[in-house]
Amino acid sequence: MVPEIESEVLEVRGERYLQSNESMFTFYKRTKGEFSPYFLALKERKVILGAKCPKCKLVRVPPFVLFCPECDFEPIELVEMPDTGVMNSTPPVTYFAHSLFEHQVPFGRGRVLLDGADTALPIHVYTTKGVLTPRIFRRGTRVKVIFRENRVGKPTDIFAVPIAEIPREKQNVRGLQESALDWESPVEPELPTPDVEAKKIYHSTLLQLKKMASLVAQSERAQKDLAGWKRRINVKTSGGCFTLLIDDGKLDVQEGEVKGPDFIMVAKHPAIFSDWMSFRDSLTNAIIAERLWISLNREFTTVFKLDRLPRSIKRTGQ
Ligand SMILES: [Zn+2]
Repeated sequence: MVPEIESEVLEVRGERYLQSNESMFTFYKRTKGEFSPYFLALKERKVILGAKCPKCKLVRVPPFVLFCPECDFEPIELVEMPDTGVMNSTPPVTYFAHSLFEHQVPFGRGRVLLDGADTALPIHVYTTKGVLTPRIFRRGTRVKVIFRENRVGKPTDIFAVPIAEIPREKQNVRGLQESALDWESPVEPELPTPDVEAKKIYHSTLLQLKKMASLVAQSERAQKDLAGWKRRINVKTSGGCFTLLIDDGKLDVQEGEVKGPDFIMVAKHPAIFSDWMSFRDSLTNAIIAERLWISLNREFTTVFKLDRLPRSIKRTGQ
């Protein structure tokens, strides 16, 4: 939890004292010790190592033992593992992470049983096909481990995606990096043909959104929520399309679509946005419940920013 930047007044024996929230960071170096070969192989060779016992042949991944506890502490051998396997359980999805993982949400926390392994490797899971929702990974889903571009020798140097999302010719490439994947061709959910009712709600929502944009212009707090951020978002709903334009503290809403947006939102119903503006539901919740879809997983950050707006506007002038 990162506390708000704020201060408070404490009264002690009739005197007022000011107290504020401050931060303190601690840095230290930590050696990976005897587990260095595993992390070095991830970082330098894009290889996942396992620990194989020459006696019982059990293969443990990650190689968290040096001697086999089942076989009278027989020294294990490090072996190179394939980077494909199956999820051994259905991974929970994290949408609200602490500050260390904040930039990576949403991600799934799963365990992959690599082919030939006897223990499962804890790993983050992602999809290349839009925002991660709970239905994409299941126990038994076949996955491929992907290596990050900038590897420092940490468990987060790797993540897994469903192998079905990877083109056949790349499925057997070892040490596949995230840049080799196509993150820009998500599959948009289909919308029903707009009916009269949805069109009506679309038009009233559009008016509400335009009003909201003008209130953002009057709210320092809301402008702060969007400061330093620039996005053009095409929003498709069952009642029609509109565009949200975020430009360094400003919000603009236009009817119709723009060419080359930064990302796309697809809302099953335009009412999702009026619910959002009137505090009945957040856009984040709508995504989790699969009523709202976004084309790029990393743009969840933008959704967080938008979700702050109704509250910031309400607080303005209070
Ligand atoms: Zn053994």
